[in-house]
Amino acid sequence: MAVRPIRLYPDAVLRRRGRTVERVTKRLARLAHDMAETMYQANGIGLAAPQVGEAVRLMVVDVGEGLTTFINPTVLERAGTDVDVEGCLSIPGITGYVERPAQVTVEALDLEGRPFRVQAEGLYARAIQHEIDHLNGVLFVDRASRIFREERREGEEEPVAVEIDRNELLRLEVAR
Ligand SMILES: [Zn+2]
Repeated sequence: MAVRPIRLYPDAVLRRRGRTVERVTKRLARLAHDMAETMYQANGIGLAAPQVGEAVRLMVVDVGEGLTTFINPTVLERAGTDVDVEGCLSIPGITGYVERPAQVTVEALDLEGRPFRVQAEGLYARAIQHEIDHLNGVLFVDRASRIFREERREGEEEPVAVEIDRNELLRLEVAR
């Protein structure tokens, strides 16, 4: 296993739609293990393959209840709505409020190529939906109602969240 470099916004691979996985190969399994290691090393709760430069439909999530690897995930059911703060390992120092369905039922394949279903709510549901977005080239800043930049200030222990204009971010993408 190896930690892979995390691609940072506005890297174009973050905007690519991931290919459907046709077969779970050794190479794909290695990628999944590397992604888990990369996620843990970065103190993340989820990571999608495009974030390590591979535009395939593979993602890992661990919100503190164990690691789940999702291949070709699809959302079967959504219920409720919930607004909470999100961040992303590919967009460090940026957070935002994102409204999403509060509960989801997701079907995917595991590393043996077997289908499984997950019913998720709370942070787990949010993390799963955030990662599925990555597989479609969608980032949380696209969905955020308000976006903040964490700013370190002299004399302050914790970073201060300063609201920014979404266009400020998107200009970075255009200028790339
Ligand atoms: Zn992300």
